[in-house]
Amino acid sequence: MAFSFDTTYKNLDANLYSRVTPKSIANPEILLLNTGLCTDLGLDTAALNATILAGQELLEEPIAQAYAGHQYGSFTVLGDGRAMTLGEHVHDSSRWDIQLKGSGRTPYSGRGDGKATVSSMLREYLYSYAMQRLNINTSRSLAVIETDDVVERRQREAGAILVRVMNSHIRYGTFQYVAGHASDELQRFTDYVIDRHYPQLNATARTYLEFFDAVMQSSIEMVVDWLRVGFIHGVMNTDNMSIDGETFDYGPCAFMNYYDEQAVFSSIDKHGRYAFGNQRPILRWNLERFAEALQPLCTQTALTYDELEGKLDEFEERFDAHYYTMMRSKLGINSDGEDELVDEFIEWLRKSNADYINTFLELETPGTFDYPEFATAEFEQLRDKLAAVGLDEELMQEANPRYIPRNYLVEEALDEYLETGDLSKFKGLLTVLENPYTSTDMGSQFQQPPPREFDAEYTTY
Ligand code: AMP
Ligand code: MG
Ligand code: MG
Repeated sequence: MAFSFDTTYKNLDANLYSRVTPKSIANPEILLLNTGLCTDLGLDTAALNATILAGQELLEEPIAQAYAGHQYGSFTVLGDGRAMTLGEHVHDSSRWDIQLKGSGRTPYSGRGDGKATVSSMLREYLYSYAMQRLNINTSRSLAVIETDDVVERRQREAGAILVRVMNSHIRYGTFQYVAGHASDELQRFTDYVIDRHYPQLNATARTYLEFFDAVMQSSIEMVVDWLRVGFIHGVMNTDNMSIDGETFDYGPCAFMNYYDEQAVFSSIDKHGRYAFGNQRPILRWNLERFAEALQPLCTQTALTYDELEGKLDEFEERFDAHYYTMMRSKLGINSDGEDELVDEFIEWLRKSNADYINTFLELETPGTFDYPEFATAEFEQLRDKLAAVGLDEELMQEANPRYIPRNYLVEEALDEYLETGDLSKFKGLLTVLENPYTSTDMGSQFQQPPPREFDAEYTTY
């Protein structure tokens, strides 16, 4: 079976989306198909050809969603400018948006061409795959289809379509759009989102307040998971914040090698707004914008803005509780508390600028890495202190990946594809990233961070 669509978003107010048609493509070619995801979605791979995946044979009329958002702090009205939802696929009573990215212009494209380059779509495929295998809530990539377009960005390259799968593409920014453009619809829209993502809240007395609470919680869990593996999203605009805590829109994202809370790789992020260590305060800032978008509900229902502010006041405490639990598991500490020891360890990371991933592997098995920062008395003393309360192997192995997408390896694999049309290096990365917590011979190259000079100059687009 190909997709089994039941697209409930079309029952919402017509201001919230537009009906669209994917651009026609002469020779779509499947570069990558995620067979594991096909299984999860109950899809028969034999029924999924390039024509269906590229939106050239439609089961129903696709839609582009309207949304707004704060981009680098400024409010903007947006929408799917280069994305189209083919439909909501239902399997085993689960529902997923099946979305094409790079399938041409929509009413929200502005001056954009609605297209995407093959390297950026391969990149999104790889990062979303890696994140999912790291057990992090994320959008997933079903396929990359190369098109016959030539797309001009930093260089000329082939165009591509990514088939992206999420529980939904509803974002903080969708609420911002509804609040501004269809505020009479806000309650109905919120009810829809609660039914779709948080149905258990319908049974609570203060459903809308609990909804805000649940969005805050799922977002906290998502960002703490990013901090666990050293992920820098790169563009935490409110339109890139899922209402369901799914990491998505892998643009100029990167994994940090050398621990540095100021680390930022995005070429667009000139002031470091979305630096590694800023992801916590930015999440709070984004939640404040989300709370503001719920303001119309405060006149329409029993919800009050004071209550939302009360939840926001809990943010730091709740984030930190979750963060320290995560850090304790990275350090193999089974008990509660030990916050001071965790702080001391983070202080050591800050000062030493050590490779983030390898530091925890070295704690687990001393002598794995021959780095000068691990041969210091300070590191040894810290390890002794940790040994007294932590270093639980099982806990550490679950929390600490051995392999992440190392920036330079990703770039090498993409360059190889662009230069020679050979995807084997890229597929080799996917194979290692399939099991990021398990040691393999193939993975050993992934434990090598890039030279510090490379990392200092590395930028993503
Ligand atoms: P992003 O940075 O990917 O989150 O995109 C921000 C906004 O710009 C979204 O509304 C996109 O739909 C839109 N956008 C990005 N690239 C294009 C493009 N090539 N054509 C049209 N719209 C685009
Ligand atoms: Mg986006
Ligand atoms: Mg993007």
